[in-house]
Amino acid sequence: QNHQQINAKNTIEPHVLIFPLPLQGPVNCALKLAELLCLSGIHVTFLNTEHIHRPLLRHAPVLSRFSRYPNFRFETIPDGLGHQDPVTGDRFYELMDSVHSVTKPLFREMMVSGRLSRKSERPVTVMIPDGVFSFAVDIAIEASIPVVCFETISPCSLWTSYFNLPMLIEAGDVPIKGNDLDKVITCVPGMDHIIRRRDLASFCRSDGLPDHAIELSLKEAHAISRAQGLILNTFEDLDSRILPHMRNFCPNIYTIGPLHTLHKNRLMANPTPAEKTTLSNSVWKEDLTCISWLDEHEPKTVIYVSIGSLAIMTVEQMVEIWYGLVNSGKPFLWVRRPGSIRGGYEEFRAPTELLARTNETGCIVEWAPQEDVLAHPAIGGFLTHSGWNSTIESLTEGVPMVCWPYVADQQVNSRFVGEVWKIGVDMKDTCDRLIVEKAVRDVMDSKENIYSQTTNTLANLAKEAITNTGSSSFSLDRLIDDILVMSS
Ligand code: UDP
Repeated sequence: QNHQQINAKNTIEPHVLIFPLPLQGPVNCALKLAELLCLSGIHVTFLNTEHIHRPLLRHAPVLSRFSRYPNFRFETIPDGLGHQDPVTGDRFYELMDSVHSVTKPLFREMMVSGRLSRKSERPVTVMIPDGVFSFAVDIAIEASIPVVCFETISPCSLWTSYFNLPMLIEAGDVPIKGNDLDKVITCVPGMDHIIRRRDLASFCRSDGLPDHAIELSLKEAHAISRAQGLILNTFEDLDSRILPHMRNFCPNIYTIGPLHTLHKNRLMANPTPAEKTTLSNSVWKEDLTCISWLDEHEPKTVIYVSIGSLAIMTVEQMVEIWYGLVNSGKPFLWVRRPGSIRGGYEEFRAPTELLARTNETGCIVEWAPQEDVLAHPAIGGFLTHSGWNSTIESLTEGVPMVCWPYVADQQVNSRFVGEVWKIGVDMKDTCDRLIVEKAVRDVMDSKENIYSQTTNTLANLAKEAITNTGSSSFSLDRLIDDILVMSS
């Protein structure tokens, strides 16, 4: 009621509530979007759940940069997760269950009462929740607040595995049971026999997931279709194959990617007090020593290895990847996140010969400044878990990928990297030292590399998209204009 009264008088200032999925990648992206909105004068409240806000509070660069915006504020809301930090990918559904039982009722009360917190009298005029929070869309509609969903997963997975999920179920392709993983999917428009069952998002496989995993994804797609718009971290040329189809389902799509370079561009163009500080939004502290290590290497000679913030691997998989890397003969920079290797890592003793070869050619860190790493001239390839942020960061820099997807949209992303964009090798469902070695050589060797043309073309299109006349700049400006209109 508070909102409606003020809206009716037309005296309200635009105030966006951003509510990200409380994980490293989505929070990082949402902070970039928040800063872009702040730069255009919009008030932004950034609602973090408590377990992700705790490490962010310890990471001073992000906080000091945002503290300079008088129109930006962090708020927190309980998520019932205690002090476990970080949450790993195998606990995603535990996180979602906790958010549903603890956060959702508190969030509802917050929004319906119109009081975001005791500290804020300013009503929210537009809500931007992560698309996975379908409950936030329901609550926005109940509270008569315009809502635009922000999806930080890939459009290719949203299209193939979420929007088309009812068709996949009807066709008997999902849930995927048994071994028929190579069956080609024919019911998804625009896919022209590209996607196999094994390339669908991981929740489509029935093994080991809770029964409600598919239901959550159905709800997510339904919520997006009821929102006023959808923000995607992509650019028109990258997803031209599927965006027209997606717009039939959800007409108002804002493509604002690559968000990290659009963000950087606009921040540099605006003489803000933030200009001289780091632009990193990483929730964890980055080890900057790897940049000086990279400085010692020739252009395009190093393979960068990272499985992002959530994926985990077994000791056996680590050993296969490790041997594959050293046997490829390429220098490697490997991010081994604490807690990311399971099954006896503490007791594991690497063979002396492997350690000796690693000392010669490898650099291992716990967390890297990934955007800077991928932009470094020494990087010639990226062995990645195919998280959407990693994928778009890599393709923006023209770095070919060796894809070893773990969960969620990563299965689809790696297929698109290998078969649609042709900018790398998809190693899906295998982890063998010979395959790793060959894939690393394939993406890095020879001047006539088959990936150099495709990676360059996409990198150039990514750069064009964020210029002042590019499609992503246009989309961001349209989003800002629409927020003003929705707030009036
Ligand atoms: N990242 C980073 N340092 C690292 C590894 C990853 O800053 O050592 C960042 C990376 O740049 C990306 C995010 O963490 O923005 C990972 O997101 P992604 O979607 O690739 O994967 P997720 O972590 O969500 O599985």
